[in-house]
Formats: sequence, C-alpha cells, structure tokens
Amino acid sequence: MANLHFHYGTMGCSKSAQLVINAYNQNKNGNKTEIIKPKIDNRFSEDKVNSRIGISAPATVLPTLQGWSPAPDTKMVLIDEIQFFSPEDINHLVRIADSQPVIIMCYGLMVDSNEHIFPASRRLIEVGAKLHRMESTCQIPGCMHLATHHLRFDSAGNVVREGAQIAVGDSNYKSVCRQHFNMLYHGIGNKGKGNR
Ligand SMILES: [Zn+2]
Repeated sequence: MANLHFHYGTMGCSKSAQLVINAYNQNKNGNKTEIIKPKIDNRFSEDKVNSRIGISAPATVLPTLQGWSPAPDTKMVLIDEIQFFSPEDINHLVRIADSQPVIIMCYGLMVDSNEHIFPASRRLIEVGAKLHRMESTCQIPGCMHLATHHLRFDSAGNVVREGAQIAVGDSNYKSVCRQHFNMLYHGIGNKGKGNR
C-alpha cells in the first residue's frame, strides 16, 4: 500500500465526510490516527473537521506542517484542505512518509475557480502520491456531468474571474463540469445548455 495518498475532488464531493469516516474506521480497528487541518480554514469551528452531512472529528489546526511530525504510535495521518498548505509542506510529508511507518491521507481540491491547480496539489502529483478522484456531479441544475471545476460568484451572481486563489468559505462557489465552466467563465460552447 502506498503511504502517501491524495484524495481530490471539487467542493461538495464529501471529502471531509470521507476523512471522518476513514479515521473512525481506523480507530475502531485499534489504529491511532491524527487529523490535521490548515489554520486558514475558518469556515466552521476551529479545531474540528466538519462535513456538510453533519459528522465531525477533532483536528489539530496548524498554519504550516514544518516542524510537525506524527506521534510514534500514530498509524495514519489524515489532512483536510491540503490545498491550503505549501509545496514545502508536501516535501515535509514526503520525508515523514519515507522514514516512518505511517500512512498519510491528504484530502483537498485540485483546481481553483480560475482553473489553476493549487501549488500543494501540484506538488502531491509531482512526488507521486497515489491519486484518488472523488466524484460528484455538476451543480448546474439539470447537468449530470462530472464536476471538475469551480466557479466563484459575487453577491450579484456574476462570475468572478480574478482574485486570490485562496478564498475561504464556499457559499459563493459552485462545482461545475468543464463544459459549464467554459460556457460561464469564457462564454464559449453551447449557450442554450447552460441557461436551464
Ligand atoms: Zn455541467
């Protein structure tokens, strides 16, 4: 079994719920786990991973992974919102994965709302993390295509095409398929299809 994993998907594809379930199952089998989340994510309570379906688990909140290492008896580390850490943090995880008997499970987003990959997510691919795509469908009503992109909207409902790659909170985002991204972000493709 690979010891460094990246579970990626769009917002709303149950990443946090899967993290909590995975940790629960490991603990039930007697395997000690540690859950970590980045300090930048203040959507919910500070020291928990919360899922939209209502399950949660205690987490350690860290601004960086530098200087952190798992306890000697930890069997699995689960990290939420990995895209908010840095490429250097991923390098630190590689050193841990390659020198300690621990499995590291990263959960997060691949691309931002400008169709650009997050630096930490790119680094996970570069270092050969085992990739697991978590699938969900496009949130444009009536569309059943795979959600692969994010669109960010302003308060008036207009698509935002610039701004910080790291924006916290997801109330102004939709997870959409590539076709709807190109239609609504770039204005290309089949216009009729996106207006349902
Ligand atoms: Zn779509």
